[in-house]
Amino acid sequence: MLDIKKIREDFPILKREVNGKPLIYFDNAATSQTPQVVIDAIVDYYANYNANIHRGVHSLSQEATDAYEEARIKIQKHFNAAQPYEIILTAGTTHAINLVANGFASILKKGEEVLVSALEHHSNIVPWQMLCEKTGAILKVIPQTESGELDMDAFAKALSPQLKLVFVNHVSNALGTINPIEEIITETHKVGAAVLIDGAQATPHIKPDVQALDADFYVCSAHKICGPTGVGVLYGKEEWLTKLPPYQGGGEMIDQVSFEKTTYAGLPHKFEAGTPNICGGIATGVGLDYMNGLGFDNIAAYEDELLQYATKQLLEIEGLKIYGTSAHKTAVVSFNVGEIHPYDIGTILDKLGIAVRTGHHCAQPIMDFYKIPGTVRASFSFYNTKEEIDTFIDGVKRAVAMLS
Ligand SMILES: *Cc1c(COP(=O)(O)O)cnc(C)c1O
Repeated sequence: MLDIKKIREDFPILKREVNGKPLIYFDNAATSQTPQVVIDAIVDYYANYNANIHRGVHSLSQEATDAYEEARIKIQKHFNAAQPYEIILTAGTTHAINLVANGFASILKKGEEVLVSALEHHSNIVPWQMLCEKTGAILKVIPQTESGELDMDAFAKALSPQLKLVFVNHVSNALGTINPIEEIITETHKVGAAVLIDGAQATPHIKPDVQALDADFYVCSAHKICGPTGVGVLYGKEEWLTKLPPYQGGGEMIDQVSFEKTTYAGLPHKFEAGTPNICGGIATGVGLDYMNGLGFDNIAAYEDELLQYATKQLLEIEGLKIYGTSAHKTAVVSFNVGEIHPYDIGTILDKLGIAVRTGHHCAQPIMDFYKIPGTVRASFSFYNTKEEIDTFIDGVKRAVAMLS
């Protein structure tokens, strides 16, 4: 099991105070905190072997190239991708999704269909709307149920020969629902369409096996898995990555360039134009090592304990309603109390040193479904404690007393 006290020592930020109170960080679904080993890896890179990669014959360049490509292999192993070149390093989930959407602009035809889920983050909605505008393809939606799950009967009905692509998140960032992606992938493949899984919210809790899932694309952000901002992972099956055209043109992604004709580099470089976030890529590998050292099963079990502990106490508060009540959830609680605006509760909690997120969580369609402007969202990580949850519950009660 996890030694939480020891784990907390690994995160320097957890020692700081906010508004004169010890920081309680419950905004993990927005970004995770950074362990010292990752901070050290970033400092080590800039202090000792900062150089541009892939082109240099000199030693520093080779050291940096080796470290960057080793990180790619770590990521490949973590996701169980068949090949290292099926891992494209991007600037984040949003960038990875746009890369795929842009590629499909030359594949998708007018009248063909694209299916997204109602539980998506805006970054898994807007690129597909732009794609449909460009191609004349039709965007359809898998609706959600009251409990915040996908309506799988409606999904089954949406499967048609015109369907070419399905986009769904593994875990909803606004509600925490774990979606049945195994079933979605299997059923979608039966009609010959491809599936992109947005794993930004799942990867902090679940270690996905992309080959077992048979996902065509799986994307996530490093900053939610103890890594730095500005780095993301795009896993794509080799056949898809070969078929898709490059996203951006520039250095690194070419084979031969002349003014008559340019030929592109092979995978993964075809999709990594320009100097990448070298240090960030290396640090991402270190973050994954750190989390694998704790063990994803241990992380998920402990976080679920925190989720149950918090949910039970929250529901004892009069007028409090939790949005997203699926039995399959990660450690996210989205709630409102009576008519109190979520922003007001968030502001009072901040005065108490407690960081939660308030608002629509980049998922306005979900808020529209519940006819609310937003929620208060507390999201827990493996470095949080039950004592912190007790303080948070007291804080919510104080806020409610002041505001009602
Ligand atoms: C955070 C998040 C994103 C966006 O990630 P960026 O790092 O901002 O690109 C997309 N989808 C989900 C489910 C998320 O949680």
